[in-house]
Amino acid sequence: MNWYLTEKRALPWRSEPTPYRIWISEVMLQQTQAATVSPYYVRFLGRFPNLETLAKASEQEVLALWSGLGYYSRARNLHKAAREILGSNGGVFPSDFETIIALPGIGRYTAGAICSLAFNQPQPIVDGNIRRVITRFNGITIHIPESYFWKQMQAWIPEGKASVFNQAMMELGALVCLPLQPHCMECPIRNNCRAFKMNLQNRLPRPRSRGPTRNLEMVVLVLHKKNKLLLVNKLPDFIPGRWGFPSQVIPSRSSAEENACGLSRKICCGLVPLSKCAKLSHAIGNRRIVAHVFAGEASGQIRPAMEELCWIQRSRTGEMLTSSLFLKALSKTEC
Ligand code: SF4
Repeated sequence: MNWYLTEKRALPWRSEPTPYRIWISEVMLQQTQAATVSPYYVRFLGRFPNLETLAKASEQEVLALWSGLGYYSRARNLHKAAREILGSNGGVFPSDFETIIALPGIGRYTAGAICSLAFNQPQPIVDGNIRRVITRFNGITIHIPESYFWKQMQAWIPEGKASVFNQAMMELGALVCLPLQPHCMECPIRNNCRAFKMNLQNRLPRPRSRGPTRNLEMVVLVLHKKNKLLLVNKLPDFIPGRWGFPSQVIPSRSSAEENACGLSRKICCGLVPLSKCAKLSHAIGNRRIVAHVFAGEASGQIRPAMEELCWIQRSRTGEMLTSSLFLKALSKTEC
């Protein structure tokens, strides 16, 4: 904790840790790095400085300010929760764990973060950084259940210091106990760290075994309109990256063609004539994928519910597409 108090980064949500501000920052930080979140956070708080302004804004405006952060369901849930709090609690942010976790979009981690960081309640939090610090500090060489980490954090929280302690653990994982090549010589807890003592810091945590191979088929739609291609940021969860072509797993007993038409109808009003361009094999982790690639011109309107999308020049797709599955799919089309 002493280390944290002198070495912590000056992040914008740390200057005034009200429950509202902690809540917004923690939701933005889900699946997004602090450096990326900072400017979005400042802009968002500039427009919605308190719960009331957020609750009274239109969903469209909230989504517009979220634009670029991805995972838009987070913004919708924030907005919904703000309205719930304004309606039921007169705009006062609840302070008990059970009420907070019942709000839309808030899970155990976020509820724990709000309770501990804003109200200094002894609630544990566990994220990837904390899991790594605990694994190394305790020298854990086997796979253990998630509940272990929560119990360990609960046991470690010093009386009356949950806020600083939880933040110190997260910061240690983010700045010192890095996934690759941790900075042990600068680490304030190295004298008690088992991994350091056993020189195992670069080998822990052990990589998870991938599990048995899973075979699946999916459709990938390459929709185009005047030199531009349609990307969405709602992808099957095993596909890495934020943006990709509309795609979905084909359930058993249905055909690729049916699924491709169904998916295009979800996105576009009106019929999109689709042509099948390729059948690709691709592997992601333990998944062996057969991807049926379809292409078509999206001539009609895009459905309003599909705001999690963007049109992009073909020449810029390399910047946006993280998964090589989509680059392979694009190479098989003439779009
Ligand atoms: S000594 Fe090294 S491995 Fe142990 S907690 Fe510190 S940075 Fe991580």
